[in-house]
Amino acid sequence: MDKKRVDLHNHTILCNHASGTMEEYIEKAIELKIDVFGFSDHAPMDFDPKYRMKKEHIEFYENAVLNLQKKYEKDIDILLAYEVDFMQNIPLLDEVVKADVDYLIGSVHFIDEWGFDNPEFIGKYEKQNIDDIWIDYFKSIELMAKSGKFDVVGHLDLIKVFKFLPKKDIKILAQNALKQIKKSNMVLEINSAGFRKPIAEQYPSKQLLELAYELDIPITFSSDAHSVEQIGFAYDKVITLAKEVGYNKIVFFKNKEKIYTKF
Ligand SMILES: [Zn+2]
Ligand SMILES: [Zn+2]
Repeated sequence: MDKKRVDLHNHTILCNHASGTMEEYIEKAIELKIDVFGFSDHAPMDFDPKYRMKKEHIEFYENAVLNLQKKYEKDIDILLAYEVDFMQNIPLLDEVVKADVDYLIGSVHFIDEWGFDNPEFIGKYEKQNIDDIWIDYFKSIELMAKSGKFDVVGHLDLIKVFKFLPKKDIKILAQNALKQIKKSNMVLEINSAGFRKPIAEQYPSKQLLELAYELDIPITFSSDAHSVEQIGFAYDKVITLAKEVGYNKIVFFKNKEKIYTKF
């Protein structure tokens, strides 16, 4: 089994809140000696269109990734993916869930229609019992996993982003979601974007990663880059953490098949 550097969660300018060209991302990834680099831009959805690519961009996006894959095949393994929003009341688009991609990341960025990771709507954290917010969030993660449509769980505990932490034990709040993730054969990403946010740590927390390890849930690495500088962000920190918890291999995907590698 080879040792590889992997970064499976990266955005593009098509989502309207990232910068840099796709080619610049690849050049940077090669410079950082990343072996496997996945583009996983925010998939189109009939909700909140401001922060994601449009349906009309699907073909352009997929072709752009495949062209780069060919152009750089000697230097880096480039994968095609989407980060898909899971919302309980908004249907998933066929163009996305049936797309011919290497993998899909399932993410929860909304509780009902509340964009809880958007600083614009931060006031809502203080209008409701914090434990109930966390319960609703993990219920959504559980349903996302149960849908069976996704390969990777995006930023498992994103709800901690602004440091509104629950009073109840986080492991108890997350346990049903994690059990369903295992049942659905999904992979957990260790996402370094949290280091750039008020919570100032990776998603998921060490506690939840330990629980994932106990449940034998595989992991992968991601920077959730929205700019060239964020590619491979805090990589050394996340690999150290993964090793501390006990992990000795990670996963990436080709055509939805899991490939295990050392890190
Ligand atoms: Zn984004
Ligand atoms: Zn996300």
